[in-house]
Amino acid sequence: MNRMAPIHEKVVTPASSSAASNNPVTPLKEQQLLRVKNAAREARKAGSRTSSISGPDQYKDGVAASVWEEYIGENRESRYREWLISTLRKHGAVRILDVACGTGVDSRMLVSAGFHVTSCDLSNNMLQKARDTKAKKNLKNWEIHLADWCKLPQQLGPEVHHDFDAVICMGNSFAHLPDELDKQEKQELAISNFREMLRPGGILIIDHRNFDYIVANGKAPSKNIYYQSTWQTQVDTSFERNDLGEVTNIILDYAMTVPLEVQIKMGLDLDGSHDQVTFQLTYFPHYLSKFSRLLRRVFGLTIDDATAPHDISGDFLPLDVAHDPAYYIHVITKEKTIESSDGCER
Ligand code: SAH
Repeated sequence: MNRMAPIHEKVVTPASSSAASNNPVTPLKEQQLLRVKNAAREARKAGSRTSSISGPDQYKDGVAASVWEEYIGENRESRYREWLISTLRKHGAVRILDVACGTGVDSRMLVSAGFHVTSCDLSNNMLQKARDTKAKKNLKNWEIHLADWCKLPQQLGPEVHHDFDAVICMGNSFAHLPDELDKQEKQELAISNFREMLRPGGILIIDHRNFDYIVANGKAPSKNIYYQSTWQTQVDTSFERNDLGEVTNIILDYAMTVPLEVQIKMGLDLDGSHDQVTFQLTYFPHYLSKFSRLLRRVFGLTIDDATAPHDISGDFLPLDVAHDPAYYIHVITKEKTIESSDGCER
């Protein structure tokens, strides 16, 4: 059972601020693709000057990693599984890059379904769980790497070719990427790197929580099809705001009550005084229309083109029937050929 407690507010004044609003999607000019590439190049340069990674490893203490699979539950809801597998098959995908594999839940589900999966993640703790499972179950067609989204092509190395049929970034993972400079440069760079790993015509599947709802209501929608823990889980929500009152970070404090027999089995040392595992995760609030604009900009798609290869579902249902979904899931296609400035097709 998941319960979102009332929100707490904390006002934080960032170095600069910009509107994280839900304005309607505006038209995209062709030249914007070039602008995105230039911005990504600049961000890459800035990134190498300012920090070696895109954000802190929020899973570093190993606490969330130790209970993550239990938080997800035995089997991620069948609708999640069926939708993901059928969407990949519909697009003819065989070679998949899971860029936020965590403990490997989605990756091993796809390996079992016959896909060839390369997985990566920023967190060694989470990856170790994935490596353990791979070894324990002797799974084939599964490669696992340590890599940060902002340095993805470099850190995956030349042996990992940029020709994946699909890149997946699921489980509200992308929202972990902070926006320190308030310009979404790193987010733009990361998506541009995801796109780079795709073959022409390949797809990116990326999701985020329904932050529009969370910010408006101070809590997440009550149903949550991603996380099905049988343990009692309380999630305490707090907001950080800038001086304009915009929410810049959402902090979720998790408290999971671990049954005693599980504590013993897992070797958890809860010192006998309590039976809760607690951890905190921070998210950048991606609003649906702003995130859609960001995605389309990086993929060079016209923002208001209803025929653009960019589908959005809410909890895996078409948007017109998904009422207050907990998650939005985007499927966006990389263009088949790119016209370069010298007129050659690549
Ligand atoms: N997709 C998995 C994992 C979700 S947890 C699932 O649904 O269970 C989110 C994961 O994103 C974590 O394992 C975290 O380490 C990873 N992550 C966050 N920021 C990252 C970054 N910049 N580069 C690579 N991985 C990142």
